[in-house]
Amino acid sequence: MYHGVIATGGAAANMHCVPESCFIEQMNYLKVSGHPVLPWGDLSAGRLAGNGTAVGLTFDDANLSDVTCASILQSRGYSALFFVPTDYLGRSGRLARTDVAELSRQGMGIGSHSHHHVQLVRLDDSQLDEELRRSKGILEDIIKLPVEHVSFPGGSYNGRVLAAARKAGYRYFYTSEWGSNGARETAAGVLRRIPVVDGLNIEGFRNIVEMPNYRTKRAQFHLKELAKRALGEQSYLRLRRALVKRPSAPDK
Ligand SMILES: [Zn+2]
Repeated sequence: MYHGVIATGGAAANMHCVPESCFIEQMNYLKVSGHPVLPWGDLSAGRLAGNGTAVGLTFDDANLSDVTCASILQSRGYSALFFVPTDYLGRSGRLARTDVAELSRQGMGIGSHSHHHVQLVRLDDSQLDEELRRSKGILEDIIKLPVEHVSFPGGSYNGRVLAAARKAGYRYFYTSEWGSNGARETAAGVLRRIPVVDGLNIEGFRNIVEMPNYRTKRAQFHLKELAKRALGEQSYLRLRRALVKRPSAPDK
Protein backbone atom coordinates (compact mmCIF):
# COMPACT_ATOMS: atom_id res chain seq x y z
CA MET A 1 0.00 0.00 0.00
CA TYR A 2 1.58 3.17 -1.26
CA HIS A 3 0.38 6.76 -1.06
CA GLY A 4 2.43 9.44 -2.78
CA VAL A 5 6.08 9.48 -3.76
CA ILE A 6 8.12 12.64 -3.45
CA ALA A 7 10.90 13.74 -5.76
CA THR A 8 14.27 13.20 -4.15
CA GLY A 9 15.22 16.20 -2.05
CA GLY A 10 11.62 17.14 -1.28
CA ALA A 11 10.39 17.14 2.31
CA ALA A 12 8.03 14.33 3.24
CA ALA A 13 4.57 15.68 4.04
CA ASN A 14 3.95 12.56 6.09
CA MET A 15 5.35 9.11 6.73
CA HIS A 16 3.21 7.65 3.95
CA CYS A 17 5.13 9.59 1.30
CA VAL A 18 8.09 7.58 0.01
CA PRO A 19 11.04 9.22 -1.77
CA GLU A 20 10.88 8.49 -5.49
CA SER A 21 14.41 7.05 -5.42
CA CYS A 22 13.30 4.50 -2.80
CA PHE A 23 10.25 3.58 -4.84
CA ILE A 24 12.44 2.97 -7.89
CA GLU A 25 14.84 0.90 -5.79
CA GLN A 26 11.90 -1.17 -4.52
CA MET A 27 10.52 -1.79 -8.01
CA ASN A 28 14.02 -2.70 -9.21
CA TYR A 29 14.29 -5.15 -6.32
CA LEU A 30 11.06 -6.84 -7.46
CA LYS A 31 12.32 -6.99 -11.04
CA VAL A 32 15.78 -8.35 -10.21
CA SER A 33 14.57 -10.84 -7.59
CA GLY A 34 11.91 -12.06 -10.01
CA HIS A 35 9.32 -12.02 -7.22
CA PRO A 36 5.92 -12.33 -8.94
CA VAL A 37 3.92 -9.09 -9.18
CA LEU A 38 0.25 -9.57 -9.96
CA PRO A 39 -1.40 -7.43 -12.61
CA TRP A 40 -4.03 -5.28 -10.83
CA GLY A 41 -6.88 -7.28 -12.34
CA ASP A 42 -5.60 -10.40 -10.58
CA LEU A 43 -5.17 -8.86 -7.10
CA SER A 44 -8.62 -9.88 -6.01
CA ALA A 45 -8.45 -13.24 -7.78
CA GLY A 46 -5.87 -14.43 -5.26
CA ARG A 47 -3.81 -16.03 -7.93
CA LEU A 48 -0.66 -17.56 -6.46
CA ALA A 49 2.61 -17.89 -8.26
CA GLY A 50 6.22 -18.96 -7.80
CA ASN A 51 6.92 -19.77 -4.17
CA GLY A 52 3.28 -19.27 -3.32
CA THR A 53 3.30 -15.56 -2.71
CA ALA A 54 2.92 -12.69 -5.10
CA VAL A 55 2.95 -8.95 -4.62
CA GLY A 56 0.15 -6.58 -5.55
CA LEU A 57 0.57 -2.81 -5.63
CA THR A 58 -1.96 -0.16 -4.65
CA PHE A 59 -1.83 3.63 -4.34
CA ASP A 60 -4.27 5.66 -2.22
CA ASP A 61 -5.25 9.33 -2.28
CA ALA A 62 -4.83 10.35 -5.96
CA ASN A 63 -1.53 12.16 -5.46
CA LEU A 64 -0.16 13.73 -8.62
CA SER A 65 2.89 11.50 -8.18
CA ASP A 66 0.68 8.56 -9.23
CA VAL A 67 1.46 9.58 -12.80
CA THR A 68 5.21 9.19 -12.17
CA CYS A 69 4.68 5.90 -10.32
CA ALA A 70 2.58 4.54 -13.17
CA SER A 71 5.32 5.24 -15.71
CA ILE A 72 7.93 3.62 -13.41
CA LEU A 73 5.64 0.58 -13.15
CA GLN A 74 4.85 0.48 -16.84
CA SER A 75 8.50 0.47 -17.88
CA ARG A 76 8.97 -2.64 -15.72
CA GLY A 77 5.86 -4.37 -17.03
CA TYR A 78 3.88 -3.87 -13.79
CA SER A 79 0.47 -2.45 -13.10
CA ALA A 80 -1.28 -1.25 -9.94
CA LEU A 81 -4.58 -0.12 -8.55
CA PHE A 82 -5.00 3.60 -7.91
CA PHE A 83 -7.68 4.61 -5.39
CA VAL A 84 -9.18 8.04 -5.95
CA PRO A 85 -11.11 10.21 -3.50
CA THR A 86 -13.11 11.90 -6.25
CA ASP A 87 -13.55 15.21 -4.41
CA TYR A 88 -9.75 15.64 -4.65
CA LEU A 89 -9.74 15.58 -8.47
CA GLY A 90 -8.20 18.71 -9.94
CA ARG A 91 -6.90 20.03 -6.61
CA SER A 92 -3.31 21.17 -6.31
CA GLY A 93 -0.97 18.21 -6.02
CA ARG A 94 -3.72 15.73 -6.93
CA LEU A 95 -4.74 13.97 -10.12
CA ALA A 96 -7.02 15.69 -12.62
CA ARG A 97 -9.82 13.82 -14.40
CA THR A 98 -7.61 13.60 -17.50
CA ASP A 99 -4.82 11.96 -15.43
CA VAL A 100 -7.24 9.29 -14.20
CA ALA A 101 -8.40 8.63 -17.76
CA GLU A 102 -4.77 8.37 -18.88
CA LEU A 103 -3.82 5.96 -16.04
CA SER A 104 -6.71 3.72 -17.05
CA ARG A 105 -5.74 3.93 -20.71
CA GLN A 106 -2.21 2.83 -19.73
CA GLY A 107 -3.67 -0.33 -18.21
CA MET A 108 -3.72 0.76 -14.57
CA GLY A 109 -6.70 -0.06 -12.36
CA ILE A 110 -8.88 2.71 -10.92
CA GLY A 111 -10.79 2.25 -7.68
CA SER A 112 -12.77 4.45 -5.33
CA HIS A 113 -11.41 5.93 -2.12
CA SER A 114 -14.83 7.45 -1.24
CA HIS A 115 -15.79 10.94 -2.45
CA HIS A 116 -14.63 13.19 0.41
CA HIS A 117 -12.01 10.86 1.95
CA VAL A 118 -13.90 10.45 5.20
CA GLN A 119 -13.97 7.83 7.93
CA LEU A 120 -16.86 5.76 6.61
CA VAL A 121 -17.88 4.16 9.92
CA ARG A 122 -18.80 7.62 11.27
CA LEU A 123 -21.39 8.31 8.55
CA ASP A 124 -25.09 7.59 8.75
CA ASP A 125 -26.56 5.21 6.19
CA SER A 126 -27.52 7.83 3.60
CA GLN A 127 -24.17 9.70 3.83
CA LEU A 128 -22.35 6.38 3.52
CA ASP A 129 -24.35 5.43 0.44
CA GLU A 130 -23.69 8.86 -1.09
CA GLU A 131 -19.90 8.64 -0.51
CA LEU A 132 -19.70 5.23 -2.15
CA ARG A 133 -22.04 5.79 -5.10
CA ARG A 134 -20.98 9.33 -5.99
CA SER A 135 -17.33 8.37 -6.22
CA LYS A 136 -18.11 5.24 -8.26
CA GLY A 137 -20.29 7.24 -10.66
CA ILE A 138 -17.68 9.94 -11.24
CA LEU A 139 -14.88 7.42 -11.87
CA GLU A 140 -16.99 5.30 -14.22
CA ASP A 141 -17.88 8.44 -16.14
CA ILE A 142 -14.17 9.19 -16.54
CA ILE A 143 -12.81 5.76 -17.43
CA LYS A 144 -15.94 4.31 -19.11
CA LEU A 145 -15.38 1.01 -17.28
CA PRO A 146 -17.02 -0.53 -14.19
CA VAL A 147 -15.35 0.48 -10.90
CA GLU A 148 -15.55 -2.51 -8.56
CA HIS A 149 -12.64 -1.89 -6.17
CA VAL A 150 -12.82 0.39 -3.15
CA SER A 151 -10.22 1.29 -0.54
CA PHE A 152 -11.58 2.54 2.78
CA PRO A 153 -10.11 5.93 3.83
CA GLY A 154 -8.11 5.57 7.02
CA GLY A 155 -8.90 1.85 6.93
CA SER A 156 -12.25 2.77 8.48
CA TYR A 157 -14.79 0.00 7.88
CA ASN A 158 -17.10 -2.46 9.60
CA GLY A 159 -19.85 -4.87 8.59
CA ARG A 160 -22.28 -2.04 7.84
CA VAL A 161 -19.75 -0.27 5.57
CA LEU A 162 -19.00 -3.53 3.75
CA ALA A 163 -22.70 -4.23 3.20
CA ALA A 164 -23.27 -0.69 1.89
CA ALA A 165 -20.28 -0.98 -0.44
CA ARG A 166 -21.55 -4.30 -1.80
CA LYS A 167 -24.98 -2.77 -2.33
CA ALA A 168 -23.40 0.15 -4.20
CA GLY A 169 -21.86 -2.36 -6.63
CA TYR A 170 -18.32 -2.83 -5.35
CA ARG A 171 -16.90 -6.34 -5.27
CA TYR A 172 -13.39 -5.91 -3.83
CA PHE A 173 -12.57 -4.12 -0.61
CA TYR A 174 -9.12 -2.91 0.40
CA THR A 175 -8.56 -2.36 4.10
CA SER A 176 -5.57 -1.08 6.07
CA GLU A 177 -5.47 -4.25 8.11
CA TRP A 178 -1.81 -5.30 8.09
CA GLY A 179 -1.13 -8.61 6.41
CA SER A 180 -1.13 -10.79 3.34
CA ASN A 181 -4.12 -12.48 1.78
CA GLY A 182 -4.90 -16.15 1.52
CA ALA A 183 -7.85 -18.10 0.14
CA ARG A 184 -10.17 -16.82 2.88
CA GLU A 185 -9.54 -13.13 2.23
CA THR A 186 -9.70 -13.40 -1.53
CA ALA A 187 -12.93 -15.45 -1.39
CA ALA A 188 -14.53 -12.68 0.69
CA GLY A 189 -12.94 -9.98 -1.46
CA VAL A 190 -11.85 -8.19 1.73
CA LEU A 191 -8.11 -7.68 1.41
CA ARG A 192 -5.36 -6.76 3.84
CA ARG A 193 -2.48 -4.52 2.89
CA ILE A 194 0.97 -3.62 4.13
CA PRO A 195 1.98 0.07 4.10
CA VAL A 196 5.30 1.01 2.54
CA VAL A 197 6.37 4.06 4.52
CA ASP A 198 9.15 6.64 4.46
CA GLY A 199 12.35 5.41 6.09
CA LEU A 200 11.85 1.78 5.08
CA ASN A 201 15.15 0.60 3.67
CA ILE A 202 15.48 -2.02 0.96
CA GLU A 203 16.05 -4.73 3.59
CA GLY A 204 12.75 -3.74 5.19
CA PHE A 205 11.07 -3.86 1.81
CA ARG A 206 12.52 -7.31 1.17
CA ASN A 207 11.07 -8.42 4.51
CA ILE A 208 7.62 -7.23 3.45
CA VAL A 209 7.89 -9.10 0.17
CA GLU A 210 9.47 -12.31 1.47
CA MET A 211 7.63 -12.30 4.83
CA PRO A 212 10.22 -14.17 6.95
CA ASN A 213 8.58 -13.04 10.23
CA TYR A 214 4.98 -12.98 9.12
CA ARG A 215 3.45 -14.59 12.22
CA THR A 216 5.25 -12.25 14.63
CA LYS A 217 4.22 -9.20 12.64
CA ARG A 218 0.57 -10.27 12.43
CA ALA A 219 0.64 -10.80 16.21
CA GLN A 220 2.07 -7.29 16.72
CA PHE A 221 -0.66 -5.83 14.53
CA HIS A 222 -3.34 -7.60 16.56
CA LEU A 223 -1.87 -6.33 19.83
CA LYS A 224 -1.95 -2.77 18.48
CA GLU A 225 -5.56 -3.19 17.40
CA LEU A 226 -6.49 -4.55 20.83
CA ALA A 227 -4.80 -1.57 22.49
CA LYS A 228 -6.66 0.82 20.18
CA ARG A 229 -9.99 -0.81 21.02
CA ALA A 230 -9.26 -0.87 24.76
CA LEU A 231 -7.99 2.73 24.94
CA GLY A 232 -9.94 4.33 22.14
CA GLU A 233 -8.22 5.48 18.96
CA GLN A 234 -7.29 8.99 20.21
CA SER A 235 -5.79 7.83 23.52
CA TYR A 236 -3.90 5.10 21.69
CA LEU A 237 -2.39 7.61 19.27
CA ARG A 238 -1.42 9.94 22.15
CA LEU A 239 0.22 7.04 23.96
CA ARG A 240 2.04 5.94 20.83
CA ARG A 241 3.28 9.47 20.18
CA ALA A 242 4.58 9.63 23.73
CA LEU A 243 6.33 6.28 23.48
CA VAL A 244 7.70 6.57 19.97
CA LYS A 245 9.58 9.84 19.76
CA ARG A 246 9.75 10.67 16.10
CA PRO A 247 11.23 13.87 14.67
CA SER A 248 8.36 16.30 14.20
CA ALA A 249 7.01 16.41 10.67
CA PRO A 250 7.62 19.57 8.69
CA ASP A 251 4.60 21.87 8.34
CA LYS A 252 2.49 21.30 5.26
ZN1 LIG B 1 -6.47 7.81 1.96
